[in-house]
Amino acid sequence: PATANKSTLKKIISKGVNVCRINFSHISHEKAKEIISLIKTVNQELNVNTAILADLQGPKIRIGELSQPIKIKTGEELVLTTKKPKNKQIFVSYKNFSKDIRKGESVLIDDGKIKLKVLETTSTGIVKTKVVVPGTLSSFKGINLPNTKISLPCLTTKDKKDLKFILNEKIEWLALSFVREAEDLISLKRILKKNKSNIGVIAKIEKPEAVKNIEEIVDQADALMVARGDLGVEIPAYRVPAIQKLIVKKSVAKSRPVIIATQMLESMTHNPVATRAEVNDVANSVIDGADAVMLSGETSVGKFPVKTVETMRGIIRDIEKSEYTFKPSVPKRKEMPEENRDISNSICLHASQLAEQVKATAIIAMTYSGYTPIKISSLRPTSFIYVFTNNYSILNKLSLVWGVKAYYYDSGTTTDQTIIQTKETLRKNKHIKKGDFVINLASTPASEKGMTNMVKLSKVEI
Ligand code: PGA
Ligand code: MN
Repeated sequence: PATANKSTLKKIISKGVNVCRINFSHISHEKAKEIISLIKTVNQELNVNTAILADLQGPKIRIGELSQPIKIKTGEELVLTTKKPKNKQIFVSYKNFSKDIRKGESVLIDDGKIKLKVLETTSTGIVKTKVVVPGTLSSFKGINLPNTKISLPCLTTKDKKDLKFILNEKIEWLALSFVREAEDLISLKRILKKNKSNIGVIAKIEKPEAVKNIEEIVDQADALMVARGDLGVEIPAYRVPAIQKLIVKKSVAKSRPVIIATQMLESMTHNPVATRAEVNDVANSVIDGADAVMLSGETSVGKFPVKTVETMRGIIRDIEKSEYTFKPSVPKRKEMPEENRDISNSICLHASQLAEQVKATAIIAMTYSGYTPIKISSLRPTSFIYVFTNNYSILNKLSLVWGVKAYYYDSGTTTDQTIIQTKETLRKNKHIKKGDFVINLASTPASEKGMTNMVKLSKVEI
């Protein structure tokens, strides 16, 4: 609501927003449709490629509706039920709750503010608990079960309905919440394949199980999100910084874009200035190697959405100019497992090193699938990456990826011609100027439309 109107959207996009997330936990299809069309209109009016990320709720568990908030005290017994609640019982929206949870396990409510310990489970849907950390319960608050192996499928009935809607819209990224293992992504991708969708799949890492299975999850995901909100509830929050670094490292090493999310500039939800700690957190996330830093409450319900975006952009710009900016370790050939991609991988690696050596202004690449720019981006070259594609569906998609700007291009018939024309476009748009070094990547012979296999270094002549 804080940004879903044309003038605010225009402002935040002009100030630097590259991707808009629509969180399907909180929105009707009707409203989502309205916002999607608004973003598309703003894209046209501003001539930009803002991507849309649809975020599926996943197996989020909640308590039921309460007629009024209930104060619960330490040591008190609280009875949870998956059936119609009687007396002071609290409803839990998870059918197998009493079967899956075990004595001694924790039940966390409302972002972990309230903590219960399980005393007794039954086969009738009743779970008896003792209050460990007290608080006030109110309707529909979320539940986290950090130690429990939850038997709910990763795609709930609600998610399936949302997915059907999402696949009918032109949306570039799809985030899956509470991913536990690679299989969650594989089964989602099976559905996408059946629907001939090439939407990119983002695995939200917010469960201890996902951290354990991170290697296989990174392999299967198109991108990742360090979802620190739920992650910091499911594991002790003090472990989140190291896990953030681990996830970013694994993602960048395998050329997967990675997003850092939640509470980045939290205080700006209510205040026009960020705390020093928040500013440091955003900068440190950039230093860790994030492709994107995400805002949630700050821009969805906050009082200062535009100011927040400006603040975030300022932090990113400054730290990226510094000597402390992120530099991934150079991948060794044996770390590039996609054998048939070895040629283009080597080209990308050397283009990136060449760019640094000659202080090139631009790396210019042609792409259809988006593979080449994502690969180069993961090497974090010192120059911008400009890509030209005749594939409309990846123009916006690449906005999530670090350092990449995409243009539509569909006219070159020879490699020579393409190189001249793409340089001309960048010169006209003032991205490159006379005397600059630029690197062009291409595929020859052009007629075969194969993978990137050629690198050219040249000076901008006019
Ligand atoms: P959410 O995901 O905002 O959809 O819960 C992000 C997080 O948990 O940090
Ligand atoms: Mn979450």
